[in-house]
Amino acid sequence: MKSVTVIGACLAGLYAARALRAQGYDGRLTLVGDEPHLPYDRPPLSKEFLTDPATADGSADPAGEAPLALTDAEEIAGLDAEWLLGTRATRLDTRHRAVHLDTGRVLTTDGIVLATGAAPRRLPGPAPAGSYTLRTLDDAGALRADLARGPARVVVIGGGFIGAEVAASCTALGHQVTVVEAAPLPLVPQLGEKMAELCARLHGDHGVALLTGTGVRELRADGDGRVTAVELTDGRLLTADIVVTGIGVRPATDWLAGSGLPLADGVRCDAGCATPIPAIVAVGDVAQVAGARAEHWTSATEQAATAVHNLLAGRTVRTHRALPYFWSDQYGVRIQFAGHRAPGDVPRIVEGSPDDRSFLARYERDGRTSAVLALNRPRPFMRLRRELARPSHATTG
Ligand SMILES: Cc1cc2nc3c(=O)[nH]c(=O)nc-3n(C[C@H](O)[C@H](O)[C@H](O)COP(=O)(O)OP(=O)(O)OC[C@H]3O[C@@H](n4cnc5c(N)ncnc54)[C@H](O)[C@@H]3O)c2cc1C
Repeated sequence: MKSVTVIGACLAGLYAARALRAQGYDGRLTLVGDEPHLPYDRPPLSKEFLTDPATADGSADPAGEAPLALTDAEEIAGLDAEWLLGTRATRLDTRHRAVHLDTGRVLTTDGIVLATGAAPRRLPGPAPAGSYTLRTLDDAGALRADLARGPARVVVIGGGFIGAEVAASCTALGHQVTVVEAAPLPLVPQLGEKMAELCARLHGDHGVALLTGTGVRELRADGDGRVTAVELTDGRLLTADIVVTGIGVRPATDWLAGSGLPLADGVRCDAGCATPIPAIVAVGDVAQVAGARAEHWTSATEQAATAVHNLLAGRTVRTHRALPYFWSDQYGVRIQFAGHRAPGDVPRIVEGSPDDRSFLARYERDGRTSAVLALNRPRPFMRLRRELARPSHATTG
């Protein structure tokens, strides 16, 4: 293989580039990314980037790199790659292995790594000034500047992880926050009802109103086009100076329409991150690997080595078997989850107490632990996570 093009130049794309060089690939390497930035870390965008000025302006980094940078000048030089930033891939011609760019350039390449991540879902209708989604550094920068204008009534639409983190950050900044969630309880698909209820209590602990079981009809704006209120489907009207919508993401596959790749909730791959089209692999939020798509930092990083190994081998010789893992920081509480929870799995608290917002829970199925959840219990969580990752785990503890 003489040339590899990575589309999507952020977390999974960077890890794929690193894996290519680490696994001995010495051919031409090109990374295409539609954001103007070198790879940066997204998880802080809803957390300390909003609350800590040092994180936002980069002064927290002793090396003086750009805010949240995932790489540095030395590594960039070592990767010996061409970086096409601020450049969007618009079409993939799989027959000729050609990537069409919005600059008019067409890259023909031997191998392709798809790493375009996901894009936030948006509410239908116009988005007035003062309303935000949160995916990119630029989104977070704009939100942060708006929050800095003074005390605001913030309405967060969507009580999932990103919505909850934004609510916590805005509360820490002294804003008055309301979270609107369409489901009867947020995070049930991820955590199950019992544990989701315990996590939802965090909002109330910090004076954040959580309105559940109601959708949003529209965002109201004043004559200048600035948001003034959120109208709910149950008729209530919430006055708002700032609105943040966190209602999930869609894998960024629009540009792959007509490519012949199987697209259904992401790019469908086998367990080795390989698509059915030779020499095309997918990693990170855009990849549906063996039927499952993760939207987690750790999956994006772990899949890269497997995908690249198979790309260079020319077929799937290695599969990705890592245990799903994610974390979330809300109101000073670190939530950690690992494993394969299925509906019906029964959570059992084995350490700590929900009243202290600090506990460890195992989810059990047929006498086995299927998953583990912790609130502010990082050490025992990591021990159980390691145990779960062992192929032969059968403990219920
Ligand atoms: C605010 C926020 C907080 C998060 N917090 C956590 C957390 O606490 N814990 C956790 O586990 N995970 C968290 N995540 C999720 C985690 O950041 C993602 O899983 C991870 O970023 C996925 O990496 P990726 O490289 O697949 O996608 P991305 O990081 O989205 O990178 C994809 C890149 O491809 C670019 N791109 C898209 N289409 C094209 C195109 N056609 N041409 C060129 N470039 C394109 C995108 O602009 C982007 O730069 C968070 C995410 C967000 C947004």
